[in-house]
Amino acid sequence: MKILVIGSGGREHALVWKLKQSSAADRIFCAPGNAGTGESAENVAIPATDLAQLRDFAKQNKIDLTVVGPDDPLAMGIVDLFNADKLRVFGPTKSAARLESSKIFAKELMRAQNVPTAQAQTFSDSKEALDYCEQLRFPVVIKADGLALGKGVIIAADVDEAKATINAMMNQARFGEAGRRIVIEEFLRGTECSLHALVDGKNYRLLEAARDHKRACDGDQGPNTGGMGAFSPANNWNPQLQSEFEDTILRRLLKGLREEGITYRGLLYPGLMITEDGPRVLEFNCRFGDPETQALLPRMKSDLLTLLDATIDGKLDRETIEWDERASVTIVLASAGYPGKYETGKKISGLADAAKLEGVQVFHAGTKITNGEVVTSGGRVLSVTALGKTIAVARNRAYEAVSRIHFEGCHYRRDIALSAASG
Ligand code: AMP
Repeated sequence: MKILVIGSGGREHALVWKLKQSSAADRIFCAPGNAGTGESAENVAIPATDLAQLRDFAKQNKIDLTVVGPDDPLAMGIVDLFNADKLRVFGPTKSAARLESSKIFAKELMRAQNVPTAQAQTFSDSKEALDYCEQLRFPVVIKADGLALGKGVIIAADVDEAKATINAMMNQARFGEAGRRIVIEEFLRGTECSLHALVDGKNYRLLEAARDHKRACDGDQGPNTGGMGAFSPANNWNPQLQSEFEDTILRRLLKGLREEGITYRGLLYPGLMITEDGPRVLEFNCRFGDPETQALLPRMKSDLLTLLDATIDGKLDRETIEWDERASVTIVLASAGYPGKYETGKKISGLADAAKLEGVQVFHAGTKITNGEVVTSGGRVLSVTALGKTIAVARNRAYEAVSRIHFEGCHYRRDIALSAASG
């Protein structure tokens, strides 16, 4: 089989790495890819959002399966475009991907099906939103309706911050179209957990639970990022929570989608807050998480290609997913300044030394080859995953690997999985 993976992050490198282990995978392409995917696959210089060029490439090269990594092409309708040309593709259609691309759509669906989530009000008029703030108890959470690179969620501590956020989103168009409509919701207390599910239209299969670290600095300080690390299994998850999650969240949501006439095929991962009253949905993601994928796939023993095929064909009921008992810890190495401004073009050394360690995988994200050398080219540069008998062992290994890698301005958190390692 010829496979095309779309995207250029650590998630896509992990997908390429895992798909390559499948006996049915003959050739793998990655568009646009990074230095890491260029080693294990063939990079194709087409941006992930150039849908027409991607379709033409898939047609001309007789690609048997395309796997879409990031959210943007899904929200733009890449799956509909490929389907129209009878090209096989893994991911939800544009209308199904609204679960992620419109927080208002997701909220309305959850409300209709009684899916537990934060109480919320939606606004398309800034004056109404500003007036509404006057009667609230703080903190509250303000969310841009559309996709905003993970930056469209603000926790407002008081009425002044709430009003400034509403003005920035709705009147000053800080997030463009994405912030024209907003959601103001109740602030939930608890711990977060990511649940990935393969959904084939009728059936689903859950992946192991994972947790990620979103803030830039130790102790959950600093700005929100795409993710600075992850680990699996999640130490705040158990079989009882899982059955509650399946009964009150996943099944109700899939019923709601069916009632809307939407067939969801692809990866669906809700971000959850585990509150005193049980799991609550924070958001839906319609693709594999980054960096959760880098923590999950090294633990997956089953053939990923078989699972993706079964998802597309509506045959997940025949599949089970086998897991490595070992735990995994993933640490993201970022450029100094990320998620704000950062420099690129810094030479990276020690990659081979790090990869020599038992149970360690180095996944590339913002890297490229310049004059035969691997250099930085993005905010999140690498994700380093280690497996170990326990979270503590995996964590020590991952940090040992990280200590072998160097580039100017390298920033990473020192407390990834710390609570799970000592607990
Ligand atoms: P989202 O993109 O909706 O997942 O939001 C990004 C992050 O904001 C989440 O991972 C949470 O840390 C935080 N967040 C979102 N919604 C809430 C909420 N209702 N209460 C508390 N924190 C939230």
